[in-house]
Amino acid sequence: MAETRKFLLPESELPTQWYNIAADMKRLPPPPLHPATHQPIGPEALAPLFPMALIQQEVSTERYIPIPEEVREVYKLWRPTPLYRARALEKALDTPAHIYYKYEGVSPSGSHKPNTAVAQAYYNAQEGVKRITTETGAGQWGSSLAFACQLFGIECKVYMVRISYEQKPYRRVLMETWGAKVVPSPSPDTNAGRAILAEDPNSTGSLGIAISEAVEDAASREDTKYSLGSVLNHVLLHQTVVGQEAMKQMEMAGEYPDVVIGCVGGGSNAAGLMFPFLRERLEGRRKTRFVAVEPASCPSLTKGEYRYDFGDTAGLTPLLKMYTLGHTFVPPGIHAGGLRYHAMAPLICQLYHDGEIEAVAYPQTACFEAAVLFARCEGIVPAPESSHAVRAAIDEALAAREAGERRVILFNLSGHGLLDLQAYDDYMAGKLRDEEYPAEKVKEAMRHLPEVE
Ligand SMILES: *Cc1c(COP(=O)(O)O)cnc(C)c1O
Repeated sequence: MAETRKFLLPESELPTQWYNIAADMKRLPPPPLHPATHQPIGPEALAPLFPMALIQQEVSTERYIPIPEEVREVYKLWRPTPLYRARALEKALDTPAHIYYKYEGVSPSGSHKPNTAVAQAYYNAQEGVKRITTETGAGQWGSSLAFACQLFGIECKVYMVRISYEQKPYRRVLMETWGAKVVPSPSPDTNAGRAILAEDPNSTGSLGIAISEAVEDAASREDTKYSLGSVLNHVLLHQTVVGQEAMKQMEMAGEYPDVVIGCVGGGSNAAGLMFPFLRERLEGRRKTRFVAVEPASCPSLTKGEYRYDFGDTAGLTPLLKMYTLGHTFVPPGIHAGGLRYHAMAPLICQLYHDGEIEAVAYPQTACFEAAVLFARCEGIVPAPESSHAVRAAIDEALAAREAGERRVILFNLSGHGLLDLQAYDDYMAGKLRDEEYPAEKVKEAMRHLPEVE
């Protein structure tokens, strides 16, 4: 009998709503605090940075939020995305486990990020915003937002973490092709950037620094708002189209996952796949395990502290309660640039704190080893970020073999690595090193956390 390898949904099955897990959580994350007064802030405090529609989503506890028709029309360029059963990988691992992956690399920019970029550009355009600033690590977010802004006639300026700007020129070209203006961060264009450059002219940059620059730029101009590609509640919300589709596709496959896996930088792709399944666990219908996978050199969940911290390096953003390594921590320049963030989405942190989600950390060579095996079996070359999820899925499948159990594994292949081939070249040439966990630098950064309470 022929074996099914991919599960495809027709366009008519594209979700009509986003799923808001805040409606179903036992405990909500504590409120954001004002950066100076440390008092809880209301939605209006965010108005200089975000359009009202997104602020309302940020604080909403409605279970479902309708997806505007205009956004669904754009989603149809690549959604619903395919779900695959990794049969060749299962065979190579000689495992009784069934491995499934949801593939978000079919989007125009090659990752899950346009799911929120398109929604954010739409709401900004609706409220008359002419220009959007943002930061980008590996360039995945910047390119996704550049694409989305282009569709809705909005100007886009991207502060790109310098190490990625230098390592990944093709992402910059992609952003410019979609009409964005890109500068390496730290840049001389903002006070935050100039301050860092004065201290260290060779700074490789970090997401935290780039966020400071983009936020400062947006706050200082009437016609400009800011957009974040991960971490915030509304971003995770937009990604839930991924998990809603995957639920239907697993049903087509006649299975239900025992474990759901996602790599985590700020937490959005993992949340997007996990949250619709996690609802079943929160309501006591399923005992599914959820595994967040982070890089060993930037392990906010597994090594960080659950405290209020800034989202950016300069300390301009509201304080959020997160597992954090300290907002001044600059992670080593690993290839998975999209995972180099000092903290994690408050929703993921609360769920991790409450024991609903587990976390593991892997060094990068173990992830590339897994990604190469995956590519040789399944064809798709994973993004370096996604390779962390691939590693964890393979380890689950190997554990299932040890235990002789038929485990159903589902992971999010959040993007392809076709613009990251330099990283693969370095790996195959034996040039990739595993950075030591920078314990001293984290300890130092943790001394700069704001004292709250
Ligand atoms: C940005 C990115 C990530 C990390 O961001 P999350 O918000 O944690 O999902 C993961 N995978 C890919 C392909 C990315 O581009």
